[in-house]
Amino acid sequence: MADKLRIALIAHDARKRDMADWAHAHEARLARCELVATGNTGLQLMTRCPSLKVERLLSGPLGGDQQIGARIVEGKVDALVFFIDPLSAHPHDVDVKALVRVAVLSNILFALNRTTADTVLLSLIPEAER
Ligand code: PGA
Repeated sequence: MADKLRIALIAHDARKRDMADWAHAHEARLARCELVATGNTGLQLMTRCPSLKVERLLSGPLGGDQQIGARIVEGKVDALVFFIDPLSAHPHDVDVKALVRVAVLSNILFALNRTTADTVLLSLIPEAER
């Protein structure tokens, strides 16, 4: 793992508020990580948590999920936090599937819900300040 925990963040539209709430609750910890996000998720995160520096890639449906998948296979992501909306169909479902596949294949930390994301972050960064 790199010096800083490298986290990729994605939330489907119905879960963006949950993701922003989660990030807000952990803002101090996340400020110590390298963050990359799909376009709209990143925008929401930076709006809600102004202290966070988030590298924004393309929007998910326009290739952002694939960009994150590429970073994962290149070994540039330690953890993926992906708040999926399980109740809607998505036009870029094949990209989502491919992303899940490479995340599993690469054996990175992979949180699909808030409980798991909390556990990953709190176990790797137990103290908010250092
Ligand atoms: P978005 O993409 O953050 O640009 O909305 C997320 C997604 O994959 O739906």
